[in-house]
Amino acid sequence: MSSIVLFGPPGAGKGTQAERIMQHTGMPQVSTGDMLRAALKAGTSVGLEAKKYMDAGQLVPDEVIIALIEDRIEQPDAANGVMFDGFPRTIPQAEALAKITEVSHVISIEVPDEEIVDRITGRFSCANCGMVFHDKFNPLPVDGCPGGEFEEKRRADDNEHTVRSRLNTYHEQTSPLAQWYGERGILHSIDGNRAIDLVTVDIIDALN
Ligand code: ADP
Ligand code: ADP
Repeated sequence: MSSIVLFGPPGAGKGTQAERIMQHTGMPQVSTGDMLRAALKAGTSVGLEAKKYMDAGQLVPDEVIIALIEDRIEQPDAANGVMFDGFPRTIPQAEALAKITEVSHVISIEVPDEEIVDRITGRFSCANCGMVFHDKFNPLPVDGCPGGEFEEKRRADDNEHTVRSRLNTYHEQTSPLAQWYGERGILHSIDGNRAIDLVTVDIIDALN
């Protein structure tokens, strides 16, 4: 089995694209951000520990994240590989991942910082089905949420102050991974600053 990594800054469109290419790859999306938010909601010690980092726009310690991924990859639905979204975010995480599973493609979705702040501050999702929308760029369809009954959810960390910290964290600790994967010959850079459907087409091309 081999897996795919969706890589890029916060708000690049990783979750949005994962939703769309899921049908193409048949692989489940594994988002460490979603896993941490679920842990926090469930009140686990991992969730409570993670909260202080998430609120500050900093990375949760590598050992916490790696333990989550080691458990997740053992689940039956991961047997034919997964699409990682927001993981790995540091070189130690990528090294740990390389020991657990083979990665065939790293899709780097590139979006300039100025665009990121607008994307993050307008983001909302449906609490029931998880679909991601945007106030301006990807509004809720007039006939309602495609996933069923709509319930709006906005993330506590999707504010301008925290997104600027998250961007700094990205540039300092995560972006060096692009070169790391480039040296391994599996990095595919995609211009993410275009219409959602055009980005999807390029990702599917890169995977084929
Ligand atoms: P976004 O999709 O906007 O990039 P995520 O949902 O992926 O945000 O992540 C939210 C927060 O969860 C991050 O700011 C960070 O604190 C934490 N987090 C998520 N994934 C990781 C990871 N792989 N390593 C460390 N921290 C993580
Ligand atoms: P990530 O998972 O990388 O943090 P999301 O997929 O949640 O990013 O997208 C962040 C926000 O930007 C969402 O509100 C989403 O609707 C919007 N968005 C995603 N892709 C695009 C795009 N190509 N153009 C404009 N807005 C986009």
